[in-house]
Amino acid sequence: MILLANSEAWPGFADSVALLKQGAHGLDAMVAGIGKVERETSVRSVGYGGWPNMLGRMEFDAAVMDGTTRDVGAVGALPDILPACAVAQQVMQRLPHVMLTGEGAKRFAIETGFSPEETLLDDSKRIWWERLEKELGADAARFPDVPLIPLSTTITDPERVRDTTVFLCRDSQRGIHSATSTSGWAWKYPGRLGDSPIAGAGFYADSRYGAAACTHTGEMTVRCSTSRSIVLAMKLGHSLEDAVALAVEELSELSTGFLAGVVIHAIDAHGDHRVVNFRCQGDIKYWLWEPSMSQPELRTALRA
Ligand code: ASP
Repeated sequence: MILLANSEAWPGFADSVALLKQGAHGLDAMVAGIGKVERETSVRSVGYGGWPNMLGRMEFDAAVMDGTTRDVGAVGALPDILPACAVAQQVMQRLPHVMLTGEGAKRFAIETGFSPEETLLDDSKRIWWERLEKELGADAARFPDVPLIPLSTTITDPERVRDTTVFLCRDSQRGIHSATSTSGWAWKYPGRLGDSPIAGAGFYADSRYGAAACTHTGEMTVRCSTSRSIVLAMKLGHSLEDAVALAVEELSELSTGFLAGVVIHAIDAHGDHRVVNFRCQGDIKYWLWEPSMSQPELRTALRA
């Protein structure tokens, strides 16, 4: 068994470990852990603690993938409902579809027993409006009847760009699975989807070979299908290390568009893992648990 997650996973990582130890299906273990991350308001990128879009509305992206069946469930730009990752799991289990977005995702969530609520914290609302008002100047009085396109390049806030929680596991049944959840890019254009709900980009899992999930600039991993590339490379016989290196090479070949960093998290079917920081600032940490460990360990990602 193995459980790997990024640093934001701390509120729920131990819960997921406990469930894996009890023999739970990996997806149930990870969705339970992510639910705790989504409820923790001090995690400022996921769930209640996340940042809203330009209009001051929370829109959540989340997904699960069962690596044994390759079933996927995802929600994108989901308003007013948490925990989003649990809704994604319901999409996988109850619909013939793999992804729902926006109002349709909200309707489905309500139909399956989730309750709509205000998910924007007062503190987040205050910070969002301060930032927007400064950028809009005299136009603030006309908000929201202002063009949003110009803001999409000027409103980026280096302190609050984006983040996500990603979990990958190999469970007691040797099933390799992935789960993700995020509020996406702070002050994003309404309707923007990142990579976290996109199978192949922000996550991919195949119990025969391994799994990968990415954080940071979703615009880059969507363009490179980063997570699927890594698992496909392993299928074609590459080692975990080489598969991740190949994905990094593809990311580094991008020269246009919005290019910030990406963090790749990956595991293989032998129980090995690799976490690589491609051009993200500072030391990137991640959580790891294997049965030989008495406690989960917080480790530092390798630099690409
Ligand atoms: N990858 C996520 C997105 O693009 C955010 C992040 O992980 O930083 O929405």
